[in-house]
Amino acid sequence: MSIRSHNRRQVMTMLGAAAFAGSGLFAKTPGGRHDLVIKGGRVIDPARGVDAVLDVAVSGGRIAALAPEIAPEGAALLDAGGKLVLPGLIDIHTHATVDARSAAMMLADGVTGWIETGWQGAETVDQGIAAVRAAPQTAAILLNIGRKGVMTGAGETMDLSLADEAAARAAIAAHRGVVIGVKARLSRGITGDHDLEVLRRAQTVARGAGLPLMIHVGDTFTPLGQLLDLLKRGDIVTHMYAPLPNAIINADGRVIPEAIAARRRGVLFDWGHGTRAHVVWDVVEKAVAQRFLPDTVSTDWTIAGAGQGVNLPTVMSAMLSFGVPLDRVIAMATQNAARAFPFFRGRGTLRPGAPADLAVLELRRGVYEFIDNEGGRRPGVQKLFASATVLGGRIMARGGEAGA
Ligand SMILES: [Zn+2]
Repeated sequence: MSIRSHNRRQVMTMLGAAAFAGSGLFAKTPGGRHDLVIKGGRVIDPARGVDAVLDVAVSGGRIAALAPEIAPEGAALLDAGGKLVLPGLIDIHTHATVDARSAAMMLADGVTGWIETGWQGAETVDQGIAAVRAAPQTAAILLNIGRKGVMTGAGETMDLSLADEAAARAAIAAHRGVVIGVKARLSRGITGDHDLEVLRRAQTVARGAGLPLMIHVGDTFTPLGQLLDLLKRGDIVTHMYAPLPNAIINADGRVIPEAIAARRRGVLFDWGHGTRAHVVWDVVEKAVAQRFLPDTVSTDWTIAGAGQGVNLPTVMSAMLSFGVPLDRVIAMATQNAARAFPFFRGRGTLRPGAPADLAVLELRRGVYEFIDNEGGRRPGVQKLFASATVLGGRIMARGGEAGA
């Protein structure tokens, strides 16, 4: 039985009685006037356990109601027949503040919230702040512990004096509410042999400000397990599927005990796709087989990466090719991403009353191939394509990637 053949009664059974108790799920607004009705899509909202063909009504920039049939009564219509209607996607690892085209390109991919993860440090933070303020989406910054931010050539903390606690503290104090965490890139080419000291300084700053710390791992000087042992609840490890050596799996293909222990403590693990040395299918396959899945799926978005097809729907599709269920993958890009940062509180869901940020995606069947950072190829039989994006109740973008 296809999802589209469910009748109203079946849908209500699927949703379960608890889903509607006082939730407004089937609420009718007085007068029936909505600004926008999204018709006939398969609505998946993992935060509420919803997976059913429903209409979604939007009023005043907020989700007004979800129901099997909502009369448009003069509202704008968005036909989502045959498509997925999801909470707007949240990408917690991007570099979307570097090129002015970035935010609009990500919006076309269904991304309604994003974080610039550390392109800027204390000395350059104003550029990042200006870019997130100019973006149409809900956006914020993680401050690089390196005072000058990402540097080409020698990395941003190769000169340890650039890991400047006082400067970072001052920048955070000046930009509370926009700077929502700290980033430390710990690869050998960035920190040299002093990754532990860079981590210590970044943690001191993050802890002092009550903010999470995101660390970038892969080819670190210090064994990964030793770095993970230092992380605390709410901290985030990005590039979780970086290649060996120093991966979350050991030479025998087992997930290292320090990663399992970190997860138990509440440390979060993020995909962080990127283009170089951040993800290889072999590591993904072995970790997924041991059920070590990401908490969040993210792109490590750049203009260059986008040109190579690194966008959130595609990275989510790669996850599907490893047999991870669709609702779980959607949770990684919505509910879980919103939970990782209080900044996104109330988002990542289609609960009535939530901001009306939605991604309409198409899940196409076909023959696809997903490429890792070392040119590894992975076949897939389905792929997500952006179809339309609704931001704050307004249709902002139609279609991202075209073609099959
Ligand atoms: Zn990055």
